Amino acid sequence: MIPAGFEYHRPADLASAVGILRAHGDEARVVAGGHSLIPMMKLRMAELGHLIDLQAIGELKGIEIDEGRVTLGAMTTQHELIAHEGLARAIPLLREAALQIADPQVRYMGTVGGNVANGDPGNDMPGLMQCLDARFELYGAEGTRQVAAREFYEAAYFTARADDEILTRILLPIPPAGTGYAYAKQKRKIGDYATAAAAVLIGEGLSSVAMTNLSDTPVWSEEAGTALAGGDIEGCVEAMLAAIDPQEDMRGPIAFKRHVAAVILRRAIDSALSRRA
Ligand code: FAD
Repeated sequence: MIPAGFEYHRPADLASAVGILRAHGDEARVVAGGHSLIPMMKLRMAELGHLIDLQAIGELKGIEIDEGRVTLGAMTTQHELIAHEGLARAIPLLREAALQIADPQVRYMGTVGGNVANGDPGNDMPGLMQCLDARFELYGAEGTRQVAAREFYEAAYFTARADDEILTRILLPIPPAGTGYAYAKQKRKIGDYATAAAAVLIGEGLSSVAMTNLSDTPVWSEEAGTALAGGDIEGCVEAMLAAIDPQEDMRGPIAFKRHVAAVILRRAIDSALSRRA
């Protein structure tokens, strides 16, 4: 199927993009890489009168690494994340996770902003951002505000972003040197969304665990992180199993998903521990 007709807008700055969003309300949506939104439009799961392309807005691009902090422009593609050597040194977990998203074709177009703003529990970046304690910067008619990734996701496709706000940047603290990290993902085939995925950081004063596609939002568990910090791996797995709420679907029944979640989490913890310096 091809999408229903829509009017195409290509503003050159953020204020114009927000102006078009406000002018058309529910009828309008921004499009970044289009690799989640356009398939939804083709399936008629989203019908929109106005699409606002963010590609020409220079302020949304770029990767900056300052002392202790990484800032990603929302329009940074997954490919750009993977290719950036400085970023791979600062936060290697980002490259490891991005390499497990879809396939190279999707990664050349799909953006980090689109992935986290989408609100699809199957997207890999939201759980990763929660594990890394990222903050999302949002721009709207009232100005700019920040929301912690751990407080951003409310339900499937519902987030703390207001309809007329645009996600502009993602701010990430750089984990201390020597922090162990891993992103492990179980999927049915190359290019598929996760049946279960786990993001893990283990370091001095920093242990953090989040999982993907096992609830209607990503799941970051403080209890799981605390257990891990104390060296209690099974306690960490138990805490995470208590926090997730998988549903039966084409990726399997609930019991299977819970089993896979535990296997993948243990695998990610092993891998993170082996990399801890
Ligand atoms: P778009 O599709 O352009 O937008 C997605 C949503 O976010 C829309 O509602 C849009 O309005 C909103 N949005 C986009 N940018 C902003 C912004 N800056 N501010 C506010 N709202 C915004 N993803 C995974 O994580 N893991 C996978 O394994 C995976 N597999 C895939 C396999 C295939 C075959 C395909 C086609 C896609 C797959 N994806 C997967 C999704 C892909 O990573 C998408 O590119 C990504 O989810 C969305 O990024 P986008 O730039 O394409 O966003």
